[in-house]
Amino acid sequence: MPDKCIRCGGPSAYPIRALEVRTLPVRGLGGERKIQALGDEKQGGVCERCAHEQLILSLDPVRAAKPLLIRFGAVFAAGLLIEALTFLFLKDNRQVFLLLGIAALICCVLGIYDVLKKAKEKSAALRALPEKKAMEAAAWDVYLDSAPKKENENDLSYIPINEETLARKNGDLMVLYHLLPEIAVEAWNKIHKGDKTDDPSHCHVQDQG
Ligand SMILES: [Zn+2]
Repeated sequence: MPDKCIRCGGPSAYPIRALEVRTLPVRGLGGERKIQALGDEKQGGVCERCAHEQLILSLDPVRAAKPLLIRFGAVFAAGLLIEALTFLFLKDNRQVFLLLGIAALICCVLGIYDVLKKAKEKSAALRALPEKKAMEAAAWDVYLDSAPKKENENDLSYIPINEETLARKNGDLMVLYHLLPEIAVEAWNKIHKGDKTDDPSHCHVQDQG
């Protein structure tokens, strides 16, 4: 196990084990599909301070959601600007631009609502946990935030290997971690057997169209 924090390099207090999932979205004539394969098991660590800071942040939904809220705020402002300019200056195609502006404003309102709702749910879920479990959950969030999210064209995601995931059925893993059915079965086998063989031909394709 690495003895350094993945975020700050300080002494690790929370050891992390994670199974890497590589997903390649493919857009073709037949609609969108994804190719997915399991990567290696990754090991990391998170220090007490980073986990604590993350927990404090997650318990405050508005502060936790702030970076996303600022982005939606920028789009909202752009939507308002389109509306204002259309009213003031445009004679032709007025309706098209008005509709574009209104669409941008609606997207923003829905986006802000969704971001705040998720942040509130997260905060409530953490509050319901015993402190030790809440700190472990926060340490996992630190790990996810610091771990690589892309490798070439592949999106990288991670499944925590801990008591909770080991107790789950492969159907739960599929839903929780957006896995293809075959990959969920493979992931279940891998985290239970500690199987570290990495066969790159072992990937699966699914049509989503
Ligand atoms: Zn740290």
